[in-house]
Order: sequence, then structure tokens, then C-alpha cells
Amino acid sequence: MEQPIPIICPYCGVGCNLELELNADGVPKKCGATGRNPDLNGRYACVKGFAVTDLYNHPDRLTQPLLRENGRLVNTDWERAISTASDKLQAIVKTYGADSIGMLVSGKITNEEVYLSQKFQRVVIGNNHVDNCARL
Ligand code: SF4
Repeated sequence: MEQPIPIICPYCGVGCNLELELNADGVPKKCGATGRNPDLNGRYACVKGFAVTDLYNHPDRLTQPLLRENGRLVNTDWERAISTASDKLQAIVKTYGADSIGMLVSGKITNEEVYLSQKFQRVVIGNNHVDNCARL
């Protein structure tokens, strides 16, 4: 059996230390806490940490962008998805004003991503309506 891979749980800001086991094909099969960092989470993790591999391997997991066309979600590429999102945001700002758009960021993104998110909201959209899911 391969050695477990030490990882940091990506789900929330606690950043628990976990260990990931792979199957023979290199696909994650099991995740758990082994006490690598007793001052943080020791041998404990919440259900989200233990379920990392279930989510990673789930057949419904999104692996590429989708666009809604005629009421149905269809696969697309990143360039078209981002271009469409940009067009729609600009149309909303033009019709309803910048204050009609707010941004909620995830609690599991990095500090740098949070910085970029607030910068985008302030500079591109034009207001400071940005918050974090931790306050919902
Ligand atoms: S195991 Fe749970 S508490 Fe720990 S980082 Fe992951 S989501 Fe957060």
C-alpha cells in the first residue's frame, strides 16, 4: 500500500491536517486524521473532512463550466463561460446600477483569493458589497 499523503483540508479556515489514501490507480479512496498535528485537530476531523473522497469521486461533481441554454445546462469551455458571465454582469450594471450586485465569497478560499475578490468588487463592479459565507 502507498504511503498516505499529508494534506490540509480545503473546506474551511480551520485547516485541519488530514491524510489521503489512494487506490492502485491513484484515485483518492480514503481520508482521515492521523494525529499529525495534535495542537490543531489531532485525530479528529468533521464530517466534511472525512467525506473529501466521497465528494471528489462523486459522479455529479462538476469538472467543467456549464451554461444554461433554453432552460438546460450544457457543457462549455472556460473562455465562453467567463465571457458570458462578464456580459451578463455588465448588462445588470447598465440596467440596474452597480449597487444591484454584491459578492459572497467562500470561507475556504485563500487570503489572496479573498483579496482579489474584494478588489474585483470594488474596482470592476464599483461598490464594496462583499461578504463571506461565515457571516450568513
Ligand atoms: S475537517 Fe472540518 S473543521 Fe477541519 S478544516 Fe475540514 S471542514 Fe474545517
